Order: sequence, then structure tokens, then C-alpha cells
Amino acid sequence: MDHKKLAELLFPHIDKTPDYYEQKFKIRDLPQGAMVTRLGPSPTGFIHLGNLYGALADERLAHQSGGIFYLRIEDTDDKRYVENAVETIISSLRFFDINFDEGALMEGEKGDYGPYYQSRRGEIYQCFVKYLVEQGSAYPCFLTEEELASIRQRQEQAKETTGIYGRYAEKSRSLTYDEIKANIEAGKPYVIRLKSSGNHDLPSEEIRHIHVEDAVRGVLSMPENNQDVVILKTNGIPTYHMAHVVDDHLMRTTHVVRGEEWLMSLPIHVELFEKLGLPMPVYCHTAQLLKLDNGNKRKLSKRKDPELSLDYYRREGYHPAAVKEYLMTILNSDFEEWRLANPDAPMEDFKFTTEKMSSGGALFDLNKLNDISKDVLVKIPSSSLYDFLTGWAREFRPEIYPLLRDNRQYVEKILDLGRTGNKPRKDFIRAGQIFDFISYFFDDYFVIEDTVPENVSDEDAAEILTRYLASYDHSDDQTLWFEKIRGIAEDMGYAARPKDYKKNPDAYKGHVGHVSTVIRIALMGRSQSPDIWEIQQILGKERTRERLGLMIK
Ligand code: GLU
Repeated sequence: MDHKKLAELLFPHIDKTPDYYEQKFKIRDLPQGAMVTRLGPSPTGFIHLGNLYGALADERLAHQSGGIFYLRIEDTDDKRYVENAVETIISSLRFFDINFDEGALMEGEKGDYGPYYQSRRGEIYQCFVKYLVEQGSAYPCFLTEEELASIRQRQEQAKETTGIYGRYAEKSRSLTYDEIKANIEAGKPYVIRLKSSGNHDLPSEEIRHIHVEDAVRGVLSMPENNQDVVILKTNGIPTYHMAHVVDDHLMRTTHVVRGEEWLMSLPIHVELFEKLGLPMPVYCHTAQLLKLDNGNKRKLSKRKDPELSLDYYRREGYHPAAVKEYLMTILNSDFEEWRLANPDAPMEDFKFTTEKMSSGGALFDLNKLNDISKDVLVKIPSSSLYDFLTGWAREFRPEIYPLLRDNRQYVEKILDLGRTGNKPRKDFIRAGQIFDFISYFFDDYFVIEDTVPENVSDEDAAEILTRYLASYDHSDDQTLWFEKIRGIAEDMGYAARPKDYKKNPDAYKGHVGHVSTVIRIALMGRSQSPDIWEIQQILGKERTRERLGLMIK
């Protein structure tokens, strides 16, 4: 068979050669060691935690090495296209301060290595497929859906590997030029398949193995590919295998960070690179995100786990810095240790390495995220926390937005409560929870949630508050203020110190802590809260008196 003639028959409209593109998309002029990474989402509009996990790795690798991080839209499957998906992808990642240098951007395509939409690269792929046909490494296959289904059925019955390989490929591989030409003239649809060099009929111990150095997993040894996979579909659009090989090469990607679900098809990619005579990028196959469900680890699922969607974190009001900090702890095993040694350093100072990435499943745990969030939020100054909280409310809780917007000073003081000093309180996790935590400061949201301690009778509670109100002087300092509470406790038969009560419980009705809990409930509606004196200072004299009065009735 004259392969060149066949290539002309199949791709008469393609007049360029791979070399043309090789020249057009020059090796990037970047400093030694600079990495070029990419995110290649399909435009379904659903951007999830796994994407963010990968994107964070991509972004760190590129930017810490002075390289480039670009966005390529893998839209070869138009059934999956969702309106505004690209905007959603970009803005979802921007929220986490992950920004692209190049590619399919909001303002349009940017960069010298485009187009960055696979749907616009048809000719480029076909040029490389044409080259493979010319080399005798690819061929047209006219098998119909029915024929493929019946092959599959036979293979399943015989418990054989499914697919087109070895003897199942014979029929299409051996078509003559004239037969192919006649089929095309008859309008029969066809795909282009890779003519794999892998031999399917060898006993397993003789199968050649490929060795690929994965930056996360070390050297991988896998049986070589022997399937004649489809590289160009009937509509002339390439499959993922072909498209990613061509794109990652021409866009001069140095590191391909992708999910471990692609590991299985790595031998196909290796064969494609070999047959095209192109160097391979460094692969970094990341671990799947898993969660514990009733003690068992399982993959996060779109249907069962709302936390898989990035929208979830925005809606719940997680601070992007907290989510990133947490993802970094599951991405790089030495991050936590670094953080302990560098509590105040920006995350960007951490040297991210692929070697320290987990290769087993990465366990995602919302409780751990919450803990990390507390540590992250405690370091955020109240003014910027205020902006974050207000911005969140505006989008997700419009009914509380004016309250926050119009009371900047008041809210900042509230947010600062107990957070300064060397043992700051770590009460804040996410915007929704922060608002609930501080809601008692706003009259419209103030409710009595807890009851007074059991050992304090209703009469005593009323008397405590009456006495407290009578002696209340807003200008008392914290010491004097507490002395007064002690005085009230003692007068009413409660121990002035908890330890006196513990030593001799029969001698008292309770202790000063029970007395102050009554005051706390009157003021905050809750039996747990930051320091009462400080809260009163923020509430102000009027509101403090008013709330005490309310509960005496
Ligand atoms: N479009 C592929 C996906 O969404 C990208 C995989 C890759 O990064 O190579 O899974």
C-alpha cells in the first residue's frame, strides 16, 4: 500500500506538515527550569474540587518556577457544552486567586500557542493524523456500530479483552487502497485508528513494557499498548488521546498534571508520542479525592457530595485562602510541617514539589477543612474579614447585607472580639457560621437560645439581673465590673470562686460562674460566648441595659 497516496485520499485539504507547526510554535523562551502547565477542562460548566486540586498544583508549579499556566478548553464533545462555561471556570478559579497567564481567557484568547479551544484546532489535528497515515501508523476503519457491537459481544463471551486489536483489526488493516476509495466514494462513514505495534498474541510474560517516569509516582512500568484506538472520529474530530498529545506538544507544555483516571491510557499516549516522533512531557498523575463514608473510603460523587462542587464553598462562605490552605495540606505531604515552622508566611513561600504529592487516594475531610479554616481566619485582620463577610452576604444572604454594610465599625469590633492578644479565639470557620456566631449583636436576630443553669431558680435569675442592672455602670473597668458580680453572687448565697463551691458544694446554691451565665444569657441569649465585659462595651450602654431589662420581666 502506498501510504502517502492513502493520506492524500483521506486528507486532500491538509497541505501543512507537522514541521510547519513545529516551526510556528517555537520552543518557549523561558528561564531554565521554568514549567509550562495547563488546565484542560471540558466546558460543562461544572468545575469541581478535583479541578481546583489539579489547578492549584499546575498554578504553583508554573508560577514558582517562572513559567506559564494556561487554559485550554477541551470542547471536542459538543454535546457537553454549557453556556458561559468558560466564564464560570475562569471566575471560579479566580475566586481562589488562581489565574491563567495565557489561553482561553475572559477577554478572548491570549498567547502565541493558540487556538486554545480544541474545537478550533481541527486542521492541526488532521495534519498530525495525516502524518501518521503517511507513515503507515494509522488507517481508516469502516466498521459499523453493529459490527463493533457484535465483536464486543463475542469478546465478552470468550472473556477476552474488548476493543479493536490483533485479529479483530485485520479486516480494516488489510483494506486495499481501492477498497478504501470505493468505501469513501460510497459515502461510508469511517474513523481513523492508530495502527498499534503492540502484539496482542504474545504470552503475558513476553509483552513489552513501557517505562515512564511520573513526577508523582516515580517510574511506572506498564504493558505497552496494543489496541488500535480511534484517533479521529467520523466527524473529523480527534479523541482525547490524539488531541492532548498534539496540543501538549505544540503548546510546549512541560508538565501534564491530570487525574489518575488517565493512567490506564498512558500506554496509548506513549505510543502516539513515539509514532509522531515527539518528546513526551513530564506526566504528574494526581490521586483521586476520596472521602470517608461510614468508615469506607470512596470517590467524591457529584450526586452524593455537595462539597465536590466549588460553588459549595462560595455559598457556604468558606474563605478562598482557607480552602487553598487545606488543599495544599492534602496535595503536599510536607506542607503541614512547613506551616508549623512558618505560621505567618504566605502560602506562596512554600516550595511545592510533585514528589511530595500523594499518589494514593487523597482523603478530603470537611472537619479538617473547618479546623484549618479556623487557623487561617484568625490571621485575617477584621477589616478584611468584614469585607469578605459583607461580600458574601450581598450574594448569598441579601437580607442581612444592609445590616453588615451599614455598620462597618460595629461589625469590625465584633469580629475583633477575643481575636487579638496572644491566645486568640478561633471561633470563625465560614461566613454563614460567622454570622450565626455573632448574630446576637443585632436586635433583629437576638433570641434567647439557652436556659439558665439548673441550680439557679427563676426568682434568683430575676434577682441577679435586677441587682446587676442596678449596679451597672458602663464605665466600670473589667476588674471593678467583675468584683460587682462577685458581690452579687456572695450576697445571694453563691460562692465567689468556683473552687470554693467545688470544695464545699452543700454550703452554696452555686458559684459566680452560674451567676454570670444568667447575665450572659440575658445579654447574648447563649450560655457560651466571648468575654461579657467586652461584649457589653461593643453593645453599648443602652442596648446592654435594654437586654437586661427585657429578661427581668
Ligand atoms: N479534558 C480532560 C478532562 O476534563 C483533561 C484531562 C487532562 O488534563 O489531560 O478530564
